[in-house]
Amino acid sequence: MGFVKKFIVGVTGGIGSGKSTVAGMFARLGAGVVDTDAISHQLTAPGGEAIPAIREKFGEAFLNADGSLNRTAMRDFVFNHPPARKQLEAIMHGRIRETVHKALDSAVEPYVLLVVPLLIEVGSYRPVLSRVLVVDCDEELQLERACLRPGMTLNAVRGIMAAQTDRKTRLRVADDVIENNGDLTSLEQSVQALDQQYRAMVVQSVA
Ligand code: ADP
Repeated sequence: MGFVKKFIVGVTGGIGSGKSTVAGMFARLGAGVVDTDAISHQLTAPGGEAIPAIREKFGEAFLNADGSLNRTAMRDFVFNHPPARKQLEAIMHGRIRETVHKALDSAVEPYVLLVVPLLIEVGSYRPVLSRVLVVDCDEELQLERACLRPGMTLNAVRGIMAAQTDRKTRLRVADDVIENNGDLTSLEQSVQALDQQYRAMVVQSVA
């Protein structure tokens, strides 16, 4: 059997745009999903692969009693200390990438979504992607939805939005866009339509 390149769709969008919701809908239709945020959480969970390096560089103060990363303490610290942010990135990026590639290699679904909140900023996943899908919604809705997440405040969301790539730049690199300005039923319809398109593209790419 010859080598067949996997059909991988990079999914990105601002905080609260609906990436996780969209990925869940695609998964229910049978697509594979690899989520870099979920991988980052696994690596920093109790006994996670990144924990020994974090302990060594930053000390116990940044770990919870169960041995997981204290995300709030770390987020506050690196926000005010750019060199520490670089050190944390040095610990995380390579490990995330390695886990992503293993997950992509072992995926058996017809096509796979790779959810990367900072796809545009990071850039390093672009070579493996067949398409870039941007989930987009009006900023008012984005603010409202992002605030639904436990522990999120309006100010924290505004800060994150200001630090992320702006909508226009993100939309410029998109091959496909899901407009998530309606209800969940219309979102589901957009996802179904794109799922059909991706399945047709997969068939074409192996024909
Ligand atoms: P992201 O992963 O991009 O940060 P999520 O998928 O977590 O965004 O969506 C943010 C919040 O908004 C979640 O609580 C989700 O249930 C809700 N949400 C997303 N899309 C819609 C929609 N079309 N209608 C209502 N709620 C939505």
